[in-house]
Amino acid sequence: MKRIALLGATGSIGRQAIEVIRARDGLQLVAASSGSTPIDGLAPLTQVGGDPSVLLERAEPDVVLNAVVGFAGLAPTMWALERGVTLALANKESLVAAGELALAARRRGGGALIPVDSEHSALFQCASVDEPESLVLTASGGPFRGRTRDELEAVTPEEALAHPTWSMGPKITVDSATLANKGLEVIEAHFLFGVPYERIEVVIHPPSIVHGLVRFRDGAAIAHLGHPDMRVPISYALTYPERAPTPVRPLDLTAQPLEFREPDTETFRMLALAREAGEKGGTYPCAYNAANEVAVEQFLDGRIGFLDIAALVEEVLGRVDGAPARDVAELEEADRRARGLVPVA
Ligand code: NAD
Ligand code: MG
Repeated sequence: MKRIALLGATGSIGRQAIEVIRARDGLQLVAASSGSTPIDGLAPLTQVGGDPSVLLERAEPDVVLNAVVGFAGLAPTMWALERGVTLALANKESLVAAGELALAARRRGGGALIPVDSEHSALFQCASVDEPESLVLTASGGPFRGRTRDELEAVTPEEALAHPTWSMGPKITVDSATLANKGLEVIEAHFLFGVPYERIEVVIHPPSIVHGLVRFRDGAAIAHLGHPDMRVPISYALTYPERAPTPVRPLDLTAQPLEFREPDTETFRMLALAREAGEKGGTYPCAYNAANEVAVEQFLDGRIGFLDIAALVEEVLGRVDGAPARDVAELEEADRRARGLVPVA
């Protein structure tokens, strides 16, 4: 029996994880948390808000599934990595922000870090074959794919929340519309696979069928295909190293063409800014993430426009020093500072 602690149980990933756990005899939900929604009775141990470490200590999980949204997911990520408890990671923001600190904690703890993010789950499976030469992340392009800056000026939160292929929580859905999600994923891939940024490529792939591709030194590339359904990577992370059946139907390869194009990083600045922040290193990725979280909230509240998100993040990145954080307290300080630099709209 695998004991699972699920953080962010009421969200999009959290609810699908509960479905996966309930369908599988070998998986047991021993603890669950949420940010603010009541979850009494969902698991033997539950918690709403606050520091999850006491809950995790008491639960003694074999796997921590971190499905919290945003930098708030830092604590469970570090808790699991430090202790060598297997971390199934949906919360990309914590790995992006913590970067080297998270990797150092993983080295000390010695446990497994298994990505739940669909592209990284795909790359993880492809990269198990041999040392990757380079990585390719696919992006649907979101609801505004192909639009010009002028056409993005006045788009509304409702339009941004209508994702063409994935059904997800509001923050990541807006991130998919700005391509910040792909930006965060480039940094996530850098830390997960130790591949330098210049060897992490992004291609737009509207149908979201090919999730990722690993190129090898002999010129061969291995791709991972599947329906855009998060139950597959969630199930893979929870049952790893085994592969369990899921209710997801087999892929029909003749249903649609598998087209790929280059991303428009002039219009979708958040992808280019993420690369810049990643290459600069230190706490630049933390600042990128923090500023984005605040800007997305302001956009969803109708206080700023869609294009302001990238403008604000760029402004904040120009004002922070990006000095590396020596510990979690310094990282939290860098996160706070970057948030404070976003003007109140
Ligand atoms: P969501 O908004 O649907 O759910 C977020 C969950 O986090 C909720 O349970 C909420 O209560 C909880 N939460 C929020 N603030 C918290 C706090 N301070 N402390 C504890 N819990 C808190 O988000 P989601 O779409 O499920 O995404 C969760 C994470 O998974 C994000 O990092 C996202 O980038 C990543 N992810 C999601 C998808 C997807 O398909 N939804 C795909 C890939 C990666
Ligand atoms: Mg993803």
